[in-house]
Amino acid sequence: MSLLLPTSTAGSLPKPSWLAEPETIWSPWRLEGEQLIEGKQDALRVWLQEQQQAGIDIVSDGEQTRQHFVTTFIEHLDGVDFEKRETVKIRDRYEASVPTVVGAVSRPKAVFVEDAKFLRQNTKQPIKWALPGPMTMVDTLYDAHYKSREQLAWEFAGILNQEARELEAAGVDIIQFDEPSFNVFFDEVNDWGIAALERAVEGLKCETAVHICYGYGIKANTDWKKTLGSEWRQYEEVFPKLQKSSLDIISLECQNSHVPMDLIELIRGKKVMVGAIDVATNKVETPEEVAATLRKALEFVDAEKLYPATNCGMAPLARDIARGKLNALSAGAALVRKELTT
Ligand SMILES: [Zn+2]
Repeated sequence: MSLLLPTSTAGSLPKPSWLAEPETIWSPWRLEGEQLIEGKQDALRVWLQEQQQAGIDIVSDGEQTRQHFVTTFIEHLDGVDFEKRETVKIRDRYEASVPTVVGAVSRPKAVFVEDAKFLRQNTKQPIKWALPGPMTMVDTLYDAHYKSREQLAWEFAGILNQEARELEAAGVDIIQFDEPSFNVFFDEVNDWGIAALERAVEGLKCETAVHICYGYGIKANTDWKKTLGSEWRQYEEVFPKLQKSSLDIISLECQNSHVPMDLIELIRGKKVMVGAIDVATNKVETPEEVAATLRKALEFVDAEKLYPATNCGMAPLARDIARGKLNALSAGAALVRKELTT
């Protein structure tokens, strides 16, 4: 990107109330069949325009065509039985009833490629597309087939690579893998998590990102955050290996978080999407608050590698709050951009 401090969101944006129940995740669709397809496309158009009006530089689909950032992708795969459910502890944090891997996993057809083509047709701006990361996918399932998290992750990485290559061909500029699990299973991340991610990006010529956050602003996550103490040093465990990986961009949670900003030094050389918008509060940041976070990050990231973003997805927020936060992000980035260029 030639523009300094290009802004983007981590991914999801609220669904309009005519499409799905608002302010909730895993919310059921309110339309069916052809109407649902049309409704998803309309919602995507609405959020594309919202992002453009707010001045967001790298736009996304706001994940309007998916119910959940992990589940929807898995629903399109063979080898997973959604009727057969087991209760597991997701990210070692909260119990959920999840589908079961019952056989070899495969992707019979593309999952998001038509949606990405639709977004591409509607804008000339750079577009970013989010996919779940292999480790986070594994962590959202019960595996009765491979009986090895590593092997299942490896299979998913191959499938994600097929999808990513088609997204790239559809004109996506940045493909982002969401790996909140990287903040929890440090040994596995270093043993095979990053290797699986490298498999997922193999052969891609577009830019690649990994988003590692402390989760949506839902109760299980905010309760967990309270147990983490005054300094969150989780990133420290995985940054050294990520710094050596082939991923281009690392997307992080920084606004209102207790992550010591100097940890970013450990990924020196990478482009960093700095979360400057807190998604766990309805309070809309002022441009000055956004700018303050970006200025702190600039001590550890070169200006041309700093990408202002949101901490995580904004799906659970009310629309007007999300809109306010997009505006704040854009205005805060503009303040710092001005300081850097004058
Ligand atoms: Zn996130």
